[in-house]
Amino acid sequence: MKIICIGRNYVDHAKELSNPVPKEPLVFMKPSTALLINNDPMYIPDFTDDLHYEGEIVLHICKNGRHVQPDFAKGYYDKIAYGIDFTARDVQQRCKEKGHPWEIAKAFDKSAGLSKFIDVEGLDMQNLKFQTKLNGEVVQDGNTKDLIFDFEYIICYVSQFFKLHVGDLIYTGTPAGVGPVKIGDTLEGSIEGQEMLSCLIK
Ligand code: MG
Repeated sequence: MKIICIGRNYVDHAKELSNPVPKEPLVFMKPSTALLINNDPMYIPDFTDDLHYEGEIVLHICKNGRHVQPDFAKGYYDKIAYGIDFTARDVQQRCKEKGHPWEIAKAFDKSAGLSKFIDVEGLDMQNLKFQTKLNGEVVQDGNTKDLIFDFEYIICYVSQFFKLHVGDLIYTGTPAGVGPVKIGDTLEGSIEGQEMLSCLIK
């Protein structure tokens, strides 16, 4: 399986990091070794002094396909999860300055926090509320209506480059409110008020 991630997909988040609003999706990937599941705790890697959380909606791909066309994109995901795209912000900043790829800042071990999945049936994907709490306080209050590129667009776009396989995951981007974590912090994620993930930083 592969983990495809979209960066800067909410205008307010692109702005908070002083990044331009993209005209086409910004895509990067994480290996399967990045997965952090079962509410396992996260650690702060030695190579960063600025580990950030980015709470995101994650799509579970349920069909193989390449060059997916817009009319069919909806049928390519069946479940969603709440995910955390852990980012070594200081390392990422250095990569950006040098024009280097982001993998060492974004794709390291356990950098892809992932909750349980919920079925998409009955959920309005165009108006889905999700929140991140840090030590009980809401720090990210997102809604998929604010996406720059919606889920179907992302599926069409990425499948031009990468064949989608059943079980692949797509992290769809984070809204404003990202920030650093320290040892002892707890991150919690919810979708439509439903508790999805709890992650201790240790
Ligand atoms: Mg992200």
